This record gives sequence, C-alpha cells and structure tokens, in this order.
Amino acid sequence: MKQPTVHIIGAGLCGLTLAYLLKKKGIKSVVLEANNRIGGRIDTRYADKIGSIEMGATWCNDTHHKLLHLLQELNISYTKQYTSGVSFFETSNAYEPQRFSIPDNEAPSYRIDGGTFQLIAALEKNLDSSSIQLNEKVRQIKYDQSKIIIETTSGKQIEADYVVSTLPPNLLVGTVQFEPELPLDLTAIAQKTHTWMGESIKFGLVYEHPFWKEKGYSGTVFSHVNWVQEMYDHSTNDKTFYALKGFLNGGASTLTLEERRQKIENQLQRILGDEVKNATHYFEKVWREEPFTFAPYASLIMAHQNNGHPIYTTPLFDNRFFISGSETAREHPGYMEGAIQAAYYCSTYFN
Ligand SMILES: Cc1cc2nc3c(=O)[nH]c(=O)nc-3n(C[C@H](O)[C@H](O)[C@H](O)COP(=O)(O)OP(=O)(O)OC[C@H]3O[C@@H](n4cnc5c(N)ncnc54)[C@H](O)[C@@H]3O)c2cc1C
Repeated sequence: MKQPTVHIIGAGLCGLTLAYLLKKKGIKSVVLEANNRIGGRIDTRYADKIGSIEMGATWCNDTHHKLLHLLQELNISYTKQYTSGVSFFETSNAYEPQRFSIPDNEAPSYRIDGGTFQLIAALEKNLDSSSIQLNEKVRQIKYDQSKIIIETTSGKQIEADYVVSTLPPNLLVGTVQFEPELPLDLTAIAQKTHTWMGESIKFGLVYEHPFWKEKGYSGTVFSHVNWVQEMYDHSTNDKTFYALKGFLNGGASTLTLEERRQKIENQLQRILGDEVKNATHYFEKVWREEPFTFAPYASLIMAHQNNGHPIYTTPLFDNRFFISGSETAREHPGYMEGAIQAAYYCSTYFN
C-alpha cells in the first residue's frame, strides 16, 4: 500500500521542524516554499563570510524549552547576549539620553552561535534533498470530498494526502484561494491574527572595531523619540566580528535605504560618538515589503492579537488540511519557540 505523504506549505522554522519530526516517525513529507530560500522569518546575512547579522529572529531564552531542546539535539550552541556596560534610553529630544546598566541577574537572552540560520541549515541537512521545493508558491487548495489538490503559481497541480499550512494565518487567508471556502469564522479570525514582527524594520552595522565597548558602552540603545527604537551589540564573543543591530520605527518604511541609513547614523552618532559613521557594511530589511510574510490587515489589530487562538486546532476538509505555524501555538506564539511547538503539535496528527 502506498504510504501517505504530508505536503507542508512553507519552509520556515515550523515547516522544516515538522518535516524533521515526521521523518523521525518514518512519514514522508514534501515542503513547498514560495521563496527562493528557506528560513522564512529567519534570515541571517553574512558579512565577508566572517560574521552573521540577523534580519529576522535572533533571541531565545530559558523559557523556550522546545527550541533549546532542538538546538541541543542538533548540536547547535548558543551564547548569552552581551549587555555589559552603559546603555542608553532616549525619552525626549530635549534632554541627553538617560544612562543605565542592565543588571547581571536579568534573565538572559541567547543568540545562536554562527547565526539563527544554523538551526534552519541543520534541519534541512536532516531532510532528504528532494523534500524541499523552492519557488513553489501555493495559490489554491481544492478539496472535493475524496482528494485534496494543491495548485502552485508555477502551474503544478499536486494531489495530496494531507496538507499542512505553516503560513501566518492572515497571509494564508489573504493570498491562498480555497475551494470550498474555509469556514467563515476561521477566515474572520485569521484576518485578525497578527503576524509577529511582520511590520518590523531591522538594520545592522558592521565595524572593524567595537568602539562602543572600548568606551564602556553595551551597545544597547532604547528610544521613544527617534528612528532607532531598540538596538543591541551583535558582535561575536570570539572577537572576530563587531556589529550593532536594531529595530527602526515603522514609519521609516516610507524612506529610501540611504535615508534610513543616514537617520540611523545621525541618531547613533549623538549617543555613541563619531565612530558610528565608520561602518564597513550596512544591512536592513523592511519586513512589510516581504510578500511571503506580510499581508495588509483588513482592520487595525493589536500585536499578538488572536495568536494561539483555539480555532487553529480544528482540522479541516475531513482531517486532510491543518493550519499550523508559529502564530497558531498555544504557548509563545509568534516566536521561534511557538513555531517549534506548533510543529510538535501538528506532528501528533500523523502516525
Ligand atoms: C524581524 C524579526 C525579528 C524576530 N525576532 C525574533 C526573536 O528574536 N526571537 C524569536 O523567538 N522570534 C523572533 N521572530 C519571530 C520568528 O522569526 C518566527 O516566530 C518564526 O520564524 C516563524 O516561523 P514559521 O515557520 O511559523 O513562519 P515563517 O517563518 O513566516 O514561515 C512561513 C514560510 O511560508 C512561506 N510562504 C509564504 N507564502 C507561501 C505560499 N503561498 N506558498 C508556499 N510558501 C509560502 C514563506 O516564504 C516562509 O518561508 C522575529 C521575526 C522577525 C520578522
């Protein structure tokens, strides 16, 4: 008898973890990915092949049990985020930024050594090479009582046994057509399910020297009044790569790359000094321009709204179609931990 195959839509952390878990159970899967790369909201960039800058997910912590367990299982190490020294908080443009120190006993955040993509690469390595298909954007899912058919924009029609979507729910209902239509209550909730970090703008600056550390600064900056809202040291501990990485105010999406870089450097120059202008590399990513992550919302919604909603635990199309992905997780939805928990949960449907 032919063994059933699970078609997973999306090669982000959830989709790849699910494929990995299914493989361990001896269940075949095929991952269809719209983009020309895997990783989804994990997007590690490399500067001169010496260091990595995260344009997507970066940190985890001790409450992220499934993620830490997976890292251990895949032999991937991680390091505490550097926070020693003087940090800055801009509360008003009328005053100098406030200086503060982050206490040593603060619950630590960790970064994956070599970049978050190490996790994606390790999952991929454990899968069969033919099981991930890039540039396959799913445009339609049809169900006619006996079979489920996936149609991609490249013209492929795939008759599938089971299908799992790992797309952020708002993106799923906004960009994939269903025949018959999905239940109205599910669609309404999905349209109001926030995609974590979908509107964020990240930037990274690479330097030859950690001038901020040499001045006794941590590299941490918070601001309520300027373009850079949050920034941290992004260097490696082995003293071979020095960088700062942060988030910009969402309003900066209307600026050009050059304008954003200039605004970042001007703000940071006032706080950290003239050396800010000596960056050897500049990276940025405006996530709302990423069509395989972000779809505009039908109405104003709050961060994490409807994340982990119980409606996502109900299988559809006679138990042939499942909605997964980080935003569906009951715990830590929106985060890497949520993506992995969602994959574990979904894997229990298949034996
Ligand atoms: C800027 C930023 C910073 C973040 N920081 C952190 C952090 O520090 N810590 C943390 O824990 N989490 C963080 N996150 C969140 C974390 O990245 C996500 O929770 C996690 O990566 C989501 O994984 P996923 O597989 O559920 O979804 P995604 O990564 O969104 O994967 C969905 C996949 O589906 C693909 N896809 C989309 N449409 C289609 C289609 N029609 N057909 C086929 N494929 C399609 C996409 O290309 C993508 O690969 C951050 C996210 C961003 C954007």
